[in-house]
Amino acid sequence: MRKYVIMGVQGSGKSTQAVTLAAGLDLTHISVGDIFRWNVQNHTKMGAQVRRVMAAGELVGDDLAEKVTAQRLAEHDWNYGFVIDGFPRNRRQAEFFLESYDIDGVVHLDLPDEEVRRRVLARRLCSSCGMDYNLLAARPRDEGVCDVCGGTLVTREDDTEEALAVRLRDYHSKTDPVLELFRRKEYVVAVDARPGKEEVQRQIRARLNLPSFA
Ligand code: AMP
Repeated sequence: MRKYVIMGVQGSGKSTQAVTLAAGLDLTHISVGDIFRWNVQNHTKMGAQVRRVMAAGELVGDDLAEKVTAQRLAEHDWNYGFVIDGFPRNRRQAEFFLESYDIDGVVHLDLPDEEVRRRVLARRLCSSCGMDYNLLAARPRDEGVCDVCGGTLVTREDDTEEALAVRLRDYHSKTDPVLELFRRKEYVVAVDARPGKEEVQRQIRARLNLPSFA
């Protein structure tokens, strides 16, 4: 059983790395942001509650974020463990998390703010199937059109300059203390998020003493 937390500012590639890590080790990938996005896209009551907060780049309230995380983890579909991405985001959430789960490691994907801006503003998402693109690295074959389903590519509602500035400020003020807390418990491995995604994955596995990434 392995339980990992992956942390990094938006645009650091944390979801990509979490998915790859989980797939390679038979772990369940749990993304709190994906759960909120699913609710927004499917117009649920929770979706209506969080939509504006998310679009502004702010954090959803702790009570709701903790409830969603606890419910997701209570599904216990993670026989071999999990990689959680997007939680905890502040000190209170970290304490909540540590009360219930022991952690094997925290991966901190380190990326300078300037690089974050460059990457985030190039992100696109298929409005039909949800496939991710990036105009810097993973360009669609035809501009504005999804390679997989032909759907229209759009910018995520929270990928604007304004929302990004809010997120970066929030990230440093709220998430840095979480890293500090985890660091004191010696859980954290810091990985430079600037190289290509395969190299970053190799580094993550090496630092966590896991079987290497082919
Ligand atoms: P992410 O995909 O992890 O960047 O999350 C997208 C958005 O979902 C964030 O900007 C927040 O509005 C919300 N969110 C995700 N995880 C949390 C969390 N742990 N606490 C509060 N809000 C969250």
